[in-house]
Amino acid sequence: MKQVITTQKVNCQDCHRCVRSCPVKAIGIDSGHASVVLDKCILCGKCVVECPQQAKKVENQLEIVKQALADGRKVVFSIAPSFVAAFKDLSFGQLRTLLKAMGAKAVEETAVGAAAVSKVYASLLETADYPVISCCCPVVTRLVEKYYPNLTGNLAPVVSPMIAHGRILKEKMGSDTFVVFIGPCIAKIAEGRDADLAGAIDAVLTFDHLQQWLSETPLYSNGIIPEDNVALDTPGLSRFFPITGGILKSFTEHDETDTNVITVHGLQNCMDVFECLSNWEISPRFVEALACDGGCIGGPGIPLQSGTPVKRARVVHFARQSQCAHLDFALDSSAFDRHHAAEPVISLEPTEIEIREILAKTGKFTKADEKNCGACGYSSCREKAVAVWQGLAEVDMCIPYMKSRAESFSNMVIDNSLNAIIVVDENMLIQEFNPASEKMFGHQVDLVKGTSLARIMDCSDLLYAVETQQKLVARRVEYPERSLITEQMILPVREHKMVILIITDISEREKQDQELQKVKMETIDKAAEIINRQMHVAQEIAGLLGETTGETKAALLDLVGLLKERDTRK
Ligand code: SF4
Ligand code: SF4
Ligand code: SF4
Repeated sequence: MKQVITTQKVNCQDCHRCVRSCPVKAIGIDSGHASVVLDKCILCGKCVVECPQQAKKVENQLEIVKQALADGRKVVFSIAPSFVAAFKDLSFGQLRTLLKAMGAKAVEETAVGAAAVSKVYASLLETADYPVISCCCPVVTRLVEKYYPNLTGNLAPVVSPMIAHGRILKEKMGSDTFVVFIGPCIAKIAEGRDADLAGAIDAVLTFDHLQQWLSETPLYSNGIIPEDNVALDTPGLSRFFPITGGILKSFTEHDETDTNVITVHGLQNCMDVFECLSNWEISPRFVEALACDGGCIGGPGIPLQSGTPVKRARVVHFARQSQCAHLDFALDSSAFDRHHAAEPVISLEPTEIEIREILAKTGKFTKADEKNCGACGYSSCREKAVAVWQGLAEVDMCIPYMKSRAESFSNMVIDNSLNAIIVVDENMLIQEFNPASEKMFGHQVDLVKGTSLARIMDCSDLLYAVETQQKLVARRVEYPERSLITEQMILPVREHKMVILIITDISEREKQDQELQKVKMETIDKAAEIINRQMHVAQEIAGLLGETTGETKAALLDLVGLLKERDTRK
C-alpha cells in the first residue's frame, strides 16, 4: 500500500501535535521526526490539519489528471456534493464551465452514485438482521476493519457513492472513460486505488487540490465565469449525504429520538458507538457514521474555513434546488456489492517490568512521578512508555523530564562556574546572579534579584549591546573600590529580551604580570650597573687596548636600552 500522507522532515519541528491529534496513535517518532505508520493509519487527516508547520503533505494527483487531459483522454469529473461547502464564490455551474474549459468531457455530481447506494441502504434497513453500519466514509470503514474487526460484518456490503458513480459513469460513457473524483476527503485517495475496487476511479483530488488548480487558471483568476447549467438529473435527497443525518434522510424518515437508527459524526463519537456495539450495549438497526465533525463538510481537504452551520446551510440549500426526485440505473444493484475484510492492527504489549524500566529512564519511579501531562502527545506516561517499547515513540519525548534535566545541567554549570554570570532584562533588572557574582561584588542573590544592575556597576556597555544586539568580548573593566580587575563578555539574547554578562576576575593574573615586570626591570638595571662598573675598570686600561672596549660598552648599553624599551611597551 502506498503512503497518502508524508512528512517533510525539514519542516517537522518535533512538537508532537500530530501525535496528540491522531485518534489511533498511528504516528511514529524517529530521530525527532514524526511520520505516519501506514498499517495503523485510518487516513482521517487530523494530523495534516493540525500540523502548525504544514509538514504533512497529502498525495496530489493533479499532474496525473493534467496528463490525462493533455493526452486527449475522455476525462469525466465526479464532484462530491460538499463542493458547495468548500467554495463560497463558485457555483456548480461555474465549476462545470471551468473544468470543461480545461478539457473535461463531462462534469457530474457524485450524488448520482449516492442515489444508487441509498437504494441498497433502504433495502438493508428492511432485511438485515444485524446492526448495519454505513460505509460511505472510508475512514469509518478503515476504523472498523483495523480497530473493531469484530464489527467488519456489520459494514453495509455496498460500495461508496464515489465508487458507485465511477461504475455508473464507465457503464454510461465507456470503460475507456478517465473518471476523476473531487471531494473533501483524504481517505478517498486510498479508496480510489484499492485493489478490491479497481477500475471505477482513475484519479482522486481534494477540494484543496482543485483550489490550487483553479488558481493557476486565468479564467478563474481574472474573468467572470459563465454558468454551465445543463439540466441535472441529481436527486435532491442524495445531495444531503455530506451532512449529518443526510444519508438516513435519503432513504428513511429519521427521528433524532429513534434509537433504532443512529447518526454519529466525529471520530471519537464513532469510536464510542463502535465500543458500545462491540460490547452489545446497543443494538440499532442502522448506524449512519461519518468520521468528520459535522459530516464530510468538515473534511480535511476543504479550503473554506466557515463554521459547520454555514456549510450545512449551503448543502441544504443546494439539495433543495434539485428538481429530480428519482433516478433509475442501467446497472443491476449487484454492481454495487462490496465485501469488507478485517485487517486488525496487532500491537504487542510490553510487560509491567518493561514499562517500569522505560518509565525509570525519564525519572518516573513512583505513581506520583507520572505527571500524565500529555506534552509528549500521549494521554499518559504509561501510554507513552508502551509506545516507546513498540518503537513508535522516543524516550526523550517527555518534555517535563527533558526540561528539568536541561535546567539541572545548566544550573550546575552556572552555580559552579568561577566566572560571575549575571543575566539582566532589557531594563537592566537582574534575573540571574550566580554565586561567583555574589563573591565578586559582595551582594546576595536574594537581595539583588529583580533590582537594577546599575546599583552595582556601570551598565552603559550592556545597554549598547541591547541596542545593537552585538556581542562584546574581551572587555577589560576595573572596579577599584573592590580592588577588582575583570575581563568581560556581553551576550545579548534577542529572542528572550535578555543580556548575559560573563565576568572573569583577572586581578590576580594582572598582579602577577606586574610583579614579573618589576623583576625583569630590576634584573635589567642590575645588568646595566654591572656593565658600567666593568667599563670603569676597563677604561683604566683603555690606553693599552685602544677604542675597541669603548665600542663594546656602547653596544652593551644599547642592548640594555632596547630591553627596557620592549618591556615598557608590553
Ligand atoms: S491521518 Fe489520522 S489516523 Fe492517520 S496518522 Fe494522521 S491523524 Fe493518525
Ligand atoms: S466524513 Fe466524509 S470527508 Fe470525512 S473522512 Fe468521512 S468521507 Fe471523508
Ligand atoms: S510527563 Fe512526560 S511521558 Fe508523561 S505524559 Fe507528560 S510528557 Fe508524556
